Amino acid sequence: MPNIKLLQPATLDEAVALLAAESDGAKIIAGGTALVIMLRNRLIAPATLISLGRLQELRAIRHEPGTGLRIGALASVREAEMSPVIREKNPVLAQAFGKVGNIRVRNAATVGGNLSEADYASDPPCVLVALRARVKASSVRGEREIPVTQLFKGFYETALAPDEILTELIVPDPASGSRSSYLKYISRSSEDRPCVGMAVVVENEPDGSCKDLRLVAGAVSEIPQEIESAEAMARGKHLTDSLIEEIAGAYAGGIEPLADLRGSSWYRKQIIRVMARRAIQQAMASN
Ligand SMILES: Cc1cc2nc3c(=O)[nH]c(=O)nc-3n(C[C@H](O)[C@H](O)[C@H](O)COP(=O)(O)OP(=O)(O)OC[C@H]3O[C@@H](n4cnc5c(N)ncnc54)[C@H](O)[C@@H]3O)c2cc1C
Repeated sequence: MPNIKLLQPATLDEAVALLAAESDGAKIIAGGTALVIMLRNRLIAPATLISLGRLQELRAIRHEPGTGLRIGALASVREAEMSPVIREKNPVLAQAFGKVGNIRVRNAATVGGNLSEADYASDPPCVLVALRARVKASSVRGEREIPVTQLFKGFYETALAPDEILTELIVPDPASGSRSSYLKYISRSSEDRPCVGMAVVVENEPDGSCKDLRLVAGAVSEIPQEIESAEAMARGKHLTDSLIEEIAGAYAGGIEPLADLRGSSWYRKQIIRVMARRAIQQAMASN
């Protein structure tokens, strides 16, 4: 690798100032699990790396009543997986973080890095879309919030501006009585990225009918996929096995999946239908 200047700011203010000042297309490095591979494969060649490693202020994981979970971008994926407060308030999220790669990757990879990388074959993004989470981004121009539904723009592309740092993930508390699940289908080694990831959140009315269904597939397209017409089939109805089957069929029918080494488009479509059905059934069976 060519000589790269490494800057290690100690505060967020310093980090955003450095990012704004570096006119040579400096890159941020957090855990480095994705970035170092990109460097080694010569996909990127920044003259400067700005490490977030010293920003202790971005490491906290806490719960704020009325707001929900607040997860610092520098928290590792493993810390998020094991966090007692995430496990208590939003178990499906802890489970999704626990499905990322292997334990060595999860120890180094950060929550913010996973979202900023925007690799289509990732686990947390579709779950965060289903949970209607949002992220905070900071730059010298100030701070803003971006709903995760609007964060991913394409392959490795997010709504973050080049001078913005993703600082925090905010996950609202699930509505009372809501149920959720995340299923990961892997077609190669057990530690691989998903061939299909399927996240479900079901909110029920007191009479047991469905108030809202959010069904979001990951790894099947450039960005997480939600099919509004399939979700609408659930509203106001009791989710019987036959209705769930119909919804899963309509959902798979609405997606034109991509093809890659993990599966062809045709294969993914079959898997999407099965995973959608199983994920809804699993959510309905959970507390
Ligand atoms: C062997 C292996 C297996 C994997 N398996 C899975 C898997 O099964 N599921 C899955 O979801 N993921 C998987 N991953 C991907 C992994 O989750 C990501 O590599 C990791 O989360 C990236 O986080 P990081 O902190 O290492 O980011 P880095 O590598 O440091 O950065 C990644 C990108 O995000 C940018 N960036 C980082 N932090 C910020 C920030 N706070 N603000 C703005 N930009 C930022 C960097 O500039 C860079 O472009 C795997 C990775 C490896 C190496």
